[in-house]
Amino acid sequence: MDSIAEIRRCAVELPLKAAFETAKGSKTTSPALVVELVLVNEITGLGSGTPVTYVTGETIESVMAAVDSCREVLLNRDVSAYRGLLDTLAEALPDQPSARAALETAVLDAFCKTWDIPLWIFLGGFTAEVETDVTIPIVDPETAGELAREAAADGFRHLKIKVGKDAEEDYTRVISVQSSAPACEVLLDANQGFSPEEAVRFTDRLTKAGVKINMLEQPVDARDIEGLAYVTKHTSVPVFADESAQKPSDVLRLVKADAVDGINIKLMKSGISGALDIIAICKAAGKELMLGSMLEIGVGLSAAVHLACGTGVFSRLDLDSHLLASEEPFPGGYTWEGPIIRANPTAAGHGAEPKR
Ligand code: MN
Repeated sequence: MDSIAEIRRCAVELPLKAAFETAKGSKTTSPALVVELVLVNEITGLGSGTPVTYVTGETIESVMAAVDSCREVLLNRDVSAYRGLLDTLAEALPDQPSARAALETAVLDAFCKTWDIPLWIFLGGFTAEVETDVTIPIVDPETAGELAREAAADGFRHLKIKVGKDAEEDYTRVISVQSSAPACEVLLDANQGFSPEEAVRFTDRLTKAGVKINMLEQPVDARDIEGLAYVTKHTSVPVFADESAQKPSDVLRLVKADAVDGINIKLMKSGISGALDIIAICKAAGKELMLGSMLEIGVGLSAAVHLACGTGVFSRLDLDSHLLASEEPFPGGYTWEGPIIRANPTAAGHGAEPKR
């Protein structure tokens, strides 16, 4: 039998190498929820969720409570009928995407382990490895330049820079990064920090200074769809939505308004089934796709790596939480060398397991 016999959950902390600062604050550890589904056949499916309050409104307490609230509807369900299980989770947790992502990952991990298939093969088996960028947080220009030099030496070709806090400081930092890593392209993430006009002025000024801008992410407030459309229309840089694009219905709205060039999907915003729906919408609409992550532990990052490798649809990847963590509590889902990440090629499921 492949039915769920037991649901366990606990909270863990991902320790970071250095304080991570964005336009939304600074942190030195990242809390995560770990879910374990134990099947009658003794297989265990693992999933994790990293709630980011300013994006989804969730907290570690709320995701724990959300998992507990699903106990009744999950117990004794067969994971091989996973589609129905994912629908049940979508109904039970419509506005708790990080909790849902954790449970969905655990369901699919248990399903793949039951049928002895790697998650990335189940999701399409498109490519064994993918290339990610690395993020440079809000730090002083010298430190940013140093981080950029190191990243370029490690083979990174794309550097994601957090901006949107102070346009003047941002400008100096971006210039420092580009001159320290002249071969790299930069991805700018404003985390809603600009007004539409500021965003256009900022990118124009950088372009004129010779900065190779690959894309601009979430320049304005998440609710300001008109502002996003304004920036997209008035700059030659591809504009992507992040905080504005959580549910598939948000993406549909952005597509209808032609407000952006692409969508940054994160499992913590949409879960896995929502991510697959967003992929379908963007493919139909001719929009570009990026896959990002929060400061996630190895389980959640593995789910993202397996989705990226399995589907092969993402033109940009921002899967770098493993580079920012000082220790990984759940290794095994992927390996990496510089910017190249490989999904565990042979393990059934996503392959991430608790460190012994
Ligand atoms: Mn972002």
